Amino acid sequence: MFIGHFAVGLGAKKVAPEINLGIFFIACQLLDLIWPVLVLAGIEVVSVDHLATKLTPLNFEHYPYSHSLLMTIVYSLVAGFFVGWVLKSKKLGVIVGMVTSSHWILDFVTHRPDMPILLSGQKVGLGLWNNLFLAVSIELLIFSAGIYLYLKSKTNMSQSRKIGFWSLIIFLLVIYLANVFGPKPPLDAPSAMIAGPALAMWLIVLWGYLVDRKTS
Ligand SMILES: [Zn+2]
Repeated sequence: MFIGHFAVGLGAKKVAPEINLGIFFIACQLLDLIWPVLVLAGIEVVSVDHLATKLTPLNFEHYPYSHSLLMTIVYSLVAGFFVGWVLKSKKLGVIVGMVTSSHWILDFVTHRPDMPILLSGQKVGLGLWNNLFLAVSIELLIFSAGIYLYLKSKTNMSQSRKIGFWSLIIFLLVIYLANVFGPKPPLDAPSAMIAGPALAMWLIVLWGYLVDRKTS
């Protein structure tokens, strides 16, 4: 899932408007922000397999440190306690922890059984990505709900904020549709060619932060 994760970050603003969208983007995408770093470091492995699923041609061969249930629980606890401690709010800590763990749940629904439970051993996944129409429809629906909730949390957005926000939404949609319907990477694409561009996710975090930051 891609924009579905961002939808959780956008929607979370309705529950905790005091937290900047950039923080929620880090939380909802933490696993995918860590993943390219580990792939480039040679710790996790990805390759191209055009038959992997109908939606993604990526074969996530080995990614227990970024995408196992065990590590997701660890990341969620760390993120939740850290935010709760910095903002001195148990409630905000719990919300950030839940947004962090939502990533694994959404990936579990969409991925084929390649999601590790522990660092080795059994892998799970419901494989929604094998039904292109259903996968894209559900993800677009979740994304729309996220946008709706975000806008409900923002009553008076300035014109420049609106432009920044909607260009971010359009940018995410274009990346998503290009990934789904665009040309697939070649079979012999090295890991770095796949993971390198994924690092750009950090720029989306920055974009979310800027769009949502408080003006004084
Ligand atoms: Zn993921």
